[in-house]
Formats: sequence, structure tokens, C-alpha cells
Amino acid sequence: MDCPHPKSKGAKRCKSCSAKFMATDPEIQRRRREGIARHHAKPGVKLEYRERMRKVMEKVKADPALMEKRREHGRWLHANVLTRPDVVEKTLAPETREKRAATLSATRMRDIPGAYRDEYRRLVASKKATAAEAKAIILEQFKRDIAA
Ligand SMILES: [Zn+2]
Repeated sequence: MDCPHPKSKGAKRCKSCSAKFMATDPEIQRRRREGIARHHAKPGVKLEYRERMRKVMEKVKADPALMEKRREHGRWLHANVLTRPDVVEKTLAPETREKRAATLSATRMRDIPGAYRDEYRRLVASKKATAAEAKAIILEQFKRDIAA
């Protein structure tokens, strides 16, 4: 047994060892992730969460002391985590950058069909169209293409 000191008879682990086991067991982690994913897949859950967070942030922004606490935490994060060599290395790794790019385009270009995103980027980068104009052009093109 991984816990040499279970508190009660019949118990497998003490409280501390049990917490450690629950936090590190791959099977438990997998089930936990699945449970979270199932919850977030329910209709309305994400929207409700977004709305709740928006309200929380409204309150925080209205309170200078809370905002200062946030800034303080940001400075702490930068000094103690984000500039740590192992973290910097991970941040700059090609696979991390790829993953980040995929997440960003999935969010920012969620209205643009995947196959049209390069064309959309080209339009916006060429400065011939604003993002809104480019979106309208692309969606028009998309409608024509699926009608054809
Ligand atoms: Zn223990």
C-alpha cells in the first residue's frame, strides 16, 4: 500500500495520501476530465459560465483594491512563473505555438469556415478590407460555393 499510515481500520490511505493519490492517479484524472467535458458539452453551460464571469469581472473592475490585487498577482506571475527558463522554453516550443494558433483562430475566426481562413487572413493582411468587410466577402463566397 502506498500509505504507511492509514488513520482508521479498513482505510486504505490517510487524508493527505488520499488527496495525493486522487490528484495524481491517471485513471482518476481521465475520469475527472471526461466529467468536466461532459458538463461543458451540456447546452447553455458555457454561456452561463461566460455570463457569470462577466458579472464577476464587472465587480472586480469597479473595485480599485481588487484591481490592484489582480495587477499584483500578474506581476508575481510574471516574476515567478512566466519568466522561469523551463516555462519560457515550453512557451516558445513549436508545438505550443501551433496549439495556441489553432486555439486563437478557432475563437477569433469561429464564423469563418476552416477552408476559407487562409483567404480571410490574406484579405485582412493586404489591408484591402477591414475584418468585418473580409468576413462579409468570405461568407458571401462560402454561400455561393455551397449553392454551386
Ligand atoms: Zn498516508
